[in-house]
Amino acid sequence: MRKILIQLDTDPQPSVFDRVVAIDSGVDELFSYGGVTPENVVGLIHGAIFTRGVPDLKNTAIFIGGSNVAAGEQLLAKVQKTFFGPMRVSTMMDSNGSNTTAAAAVLACRKHVPLTGASVLILAGTGPVGHRAAQILTAEGAEVRVGSRTRDKAEQTCFAIAKVLCAARVIPVATGTDAELGEACDGVSLIIAAGAAGIELLSAELRASLKSLRVAVDLNAVPPLGIGGIEVMDKAKDRDGQLCYGAIGIGGTKMKIHRAAVARLFESNDQVLDTAAIYAIGQSL
Ligand code: NAP
Repeated sequence: MRKILIQLDTDPQPSVFDRVVAIDSGVDELFSYGGVTPENVVGLIHGAIFTRGVPDLKNTAIFIGGSNVAAGEQLLAKVQKTFFGPMRVSTMMDSNGSNTTAAAAVLACRKHVPLTGASVLILAGTGPVGHRAAQILTAEGAEVRVGSRTRDKAEQTCFAIAKVLCAARVIPVATGTDAELGEACDGVSLIIAAGAAGIELLSAELRASLKSLRVAVDLNAVPPLGIGGIEVMDKAKDRDGQLCYGAIGIGGTKMKIHRAAVARLFESNDQVLDTAAIYAIGQSL
């Protein structure tokens, strides 16, 4: 039976990137819808679950994407609420590449440093990617500092992570001034910079001065990059005794995870591939 992926995008135009990856992941048919909201998705879900017998539903799956991660999360919640009993299909959520990118960043760190007990700083950990990287690392037993220009914002992210991970400890840190940033960096062995595109969050000088730092990952591909002295293609490149990754250096793993996750959707009709599940797929590659 042909594998059908139904792409539900919250943007007006369904992402070409996600369409290409779907084809490269081996789907036979791709149905793409743009402008999908919790209000207009129910008919699309009924079309997915009422057209094939239950044993064949594993050949239909849903991918939720779009540039607005909060909108993607709301859509995922509505999709799951619309399913009932065995009438469901496997669903993956990766709005703005948030889950696959966070998983790839953590997997890069994990190659070099045992995560349990590791002291980690996520710069700009309040955005969708940083939040997810912090969540994965906390679940792995790392001691995670979530950085933000404003402490309140970091606290909100830590609160959200603690809620998902049953009161796990995550530490909010302000990084808005040089003094705050210096303190936030003190003693960490891993730094992931997950700031908005084109914003430098950590200078080359400060990075090079951090004696405890083993791995630095920068997810921003748009100059100026998020961490000074790192280049976008860096992949475990030794710089000042630290192993450095740039956004494209992480990109290969991210693409592998994305393709593997789409392929995994067709193994059964009851999977929900969100942050933890997508990271687990990355670990299995
Ligand atoms: P985002 O939501 O655009 O921004 C993340 C955080 O950056 C914000 O929460 C904010 O934190 C901080 N920020 C925003 N403007 C700033 C400014 N002017 N100065 C300092 N900090 C600022 O980012 P995202 O969607 O989570 O993505 C994170 C990064 O990953 C981006 O650079 C994105 O391009 C990249 N990305 C890479 C891939 C890949 O495949 N390599 C895929 C997806 C995303 P505070 O307000 O709390 O300080």
